[in-house]
Amino acid sequence: MRPFGTTIFAEMSALAARTGAVNLGQGFPDTDGPTAMLDAAAAAIHSGRNQYPPGPGVPELRAAVSAHQKAFWGLDYDPDGEIIVTAGATEAIAASILALCEAGDEVVCFEPYYDSYAASIALAGAVRRPVTLRAHDGGYGFDPAELRAAFGPRTRLVLLNSPHNPTGKVFTPNELGQIAALCEEFDAVAVTDEVYEHLVFTDADAPHVPIASLPGMRARTLQISSAGKTFSCTGWKIGWICGPRDLVSAALRVKQFLTFVNAGPLQPAVAVALDSPPSYYEQFRDGLQRKRDRLCEGLTAAGFAVLRSEGTYFVTADITPLGGTDGVDFCLALPERCGVVAVPTQVFYDDASAGRHIVRFAFCKRDEVIEEAITRLRRL
Ligand code: PMP
Ligand code: GLN
Repeated sequence: MRPFGTTIFAEMSALAARTGAVNLGQGFPDTDGPTAMLDAAAAAIHSGRNQYPPGPGVPELRAAVSAHQKAFWGLDYDPDGEIIVTAGATEAIAASILALCEAGDEVVCFEPYYDSYAASIALAGAVRRPVTLRAHDGGYGFDPAELRAAFGPRTRLVLLNSPHNPTGKVFTPNELGQIAALCEEFDAVAVTDEVYEHLVFTDADAPHVPIASLPGMRARTLQISSAGKTFSCTGWKIGWICGPRDLVSAALRVKQFLTFVNAGPLQPAVAVALDSPPSYYEQFRDGLQRKRDRLCEGLTAAGFAVLRSEGTYFVTADITPLGGTDGVDFCLALPERCGVVAVPTQVFYDDASAGRHIVRFAFCKRDEVIEEAITRLRRL
């Protein structure tokens, strides 16, 4: 694991703390989630639910995840055997890859990719086969021929993240259809990271569509999400995996030796949060969309060429108009130049040249924090 060093998020948050810069690097909200969820966690702690919970997760959370999957995506999962609770999406991704891949198996993933993907693939001794998302038409797309060429006889799974971090891309039904057809042709499993499932903005080209809902895909998909983003509790690390019994039980077999179980009293609280009325999810999305719009305005005024963000907590921007050529150098100098922290996206590519001049900003922050960042960025 030596090549992996410290994660870019820890590095950039430490830089923000050291320099007093406004931290638009690491994607975590600076306000708390629903009060009912916080109260339920405190109540669970004070009512003695502080010992090991069941391995697959507490029954009420598995039931709540099942009801949520049905209500939002029309997907049926049996809380008993088709859903397990994990230590965030991060453990869910690691457990799925470790469960399904033998050394030398290949994992198709889109780059830029969330940093834990490469590490989890390496832990399994598997090989990543990245397909590059390139900036085009103000947004991001991939070349279907490149996607097809990434599949082969050793392909075991496709790791798909939509809505996508760091680009803010939402994969369209057409793109998902292409991926699904290749999964069938090459008998591959789709492992999907849908932690931003509720953050698709109203002006996106497509709504969120879980690939598991496409014909034939439920049987070959492990669908992953987590409470961290939707309920502003990234430090709780409560996530889940839904899928067919055989694949889920394989992931559970690995999970039991990674963490055994996780955060007992937080699980019933997340069940309460998942049961929020539809208006919660709409307001959550609309609030983030307004923040996106405001930050995009500020970035444009500061001279960045802003790329389209259709979802997530993030927007990416090209530094070329500001005379920047290398995102890492640019982000390391930014706190001193104007007191703001951003994340260079080239660290999420195998082919760093594809993202060298692109940097990512998080807008999941209080309005006054975003305004302060905008004021500072004008100094560039
Ligand atoms: N996947 C993506 C795309 C993310 O942005 C993040 C960060 N929240 C994670 C996974 C990790 O989620 P968790 O904190 O639930 O482990
Ligand atoms: N998901 C968050 C991001 O992309 C941070 C996660 C982390 O710090 N590992 O910024």
